[in-house]
Amino acid sequence: MPQPDHPHDPAYWLARIAELPHPKTSRLRIMNVCGGHERTITHAGLRQILPDYLQLIPGPGCPVCVCPETDIQAAVALSLRPDVILATFGDMVRVPGNAMKGKPRSLQDARVVGGHVAPIAAPADVLALARQYPDKQIVFFAAGFETTAAPLAALLTRADLPGNLTILLSARQTWPAIDHLLQDEDPGFDALIAPGHVATVMGARQWAFIAENYDLPTVVAGFTPALLLQAIHAALAQVIARESRLVNAYPQCVTDEGNARARHLMDRVFDTIDAPWRGIGTFTSSGYALRPALAAHDARERFPEAFSDDSTLRMGMPAGCDCAAVVLGRITPSACRLFGTGCHPDNPVGPCMVSDEGACRIWWQSGAPT
Ligand code: SF4
Repeated sequence: MPQPDHPHDPAYWLARIAELPHPKTSRLRIMNVCGGHERTITHAGLRQILPDYLQLIPGPGCPVCVCPETDIQAAVALSLRPDVILATFGDMVRVPGNAMKGKPRSLQDARVVGGHVAPIAAPADVLALARQYPDKQIVFFAAGFETTAAPLAALLTRADLPGNLTILLSARQTWPAIDHLLQDEDPGFDALIAPGHVATVMGARQWAFIAENYDLPTVVAGFTPALLLQAIHAALAQVIARESRLVNAYPQCVTDEGNARARHLMDRVFDTIDAPWRGIGTFTSSGYALRPALAAHDARERFPEAFSDDSTLRMGMPAGCDCAAVVLGRITPSACRLFGTGCHPDNPVGPCMVSDEGACRIWWQSGAPT
């Protein structure tokens, strides 16, 4: 068992935080950009035990929440084709869109009317599906951040990629969303907790631009309460001392350069493109697209008729849903007027209440911290 005087114990870091000088402001804001971080912070009740001056703000940490509606509707349309099985991660199945009259709102609704939807746990699962159903087209609807893109890249470089497998790629890079927030006069945070899993792939250095270009402390963090409190301590100490640099507080898994092999594979199969974030806008170089050499496995090339170029649809959020503001850390989940009234996990209005990485769902499951 860890001892209170040991860095593995959250009490150790709470004591170190309490020893820091009181900041010369009544409010310090630290944003996280990872659903895993937000889950630990919320479920461990860290907000309730940290000093009152400190606000922990969930930011853009949910890739399913920003997946454009055009892609969701294309997935729905493809799932309804008799020759297609649509494979995707479980949390995407229930993500609702603004369906046209008489059309399914989600992949779950599509299933009810005969759509072929196969929830999967990992990208490699689609290989088994493609081999099991050689007479069907297997379309993998892949929404995620770099941590999803990396294993997908490994899959796409296989020599035995089945001919009946295509990818509906809706993956995003995390850092451009933060760069977007930082363009604002008030980005909404005074320090950033950078995502440990993304940094495992892409390297801690990817986050150095925040301190170098915007003069804000940035700390790469792990996922236990103690590791997050350690990162919060490192961020707070810098803010209070008016310093700003990148700290890797997760050296157990993260190096400066990340996983060189994974990044090499990603460079081989993906181009980076300007990409829409649902309800928010288009961020430069924030999305991945399959390189032309993989056009035969690109669902956008094989099934162009399933994709709408309706820009309204691309950006739309369900009526009354403030997911875009939640994702950007502009409001807390419980500030949405539908939180817990019209919107809850059994009846989600927006994607942030569906995904395990969505801040609304995480807060609801924990009794809505304030
Ligand atoms: Fe959207 Fe529901 Fe969250 Fe409100 S509570 S922002 S409606 S997901």
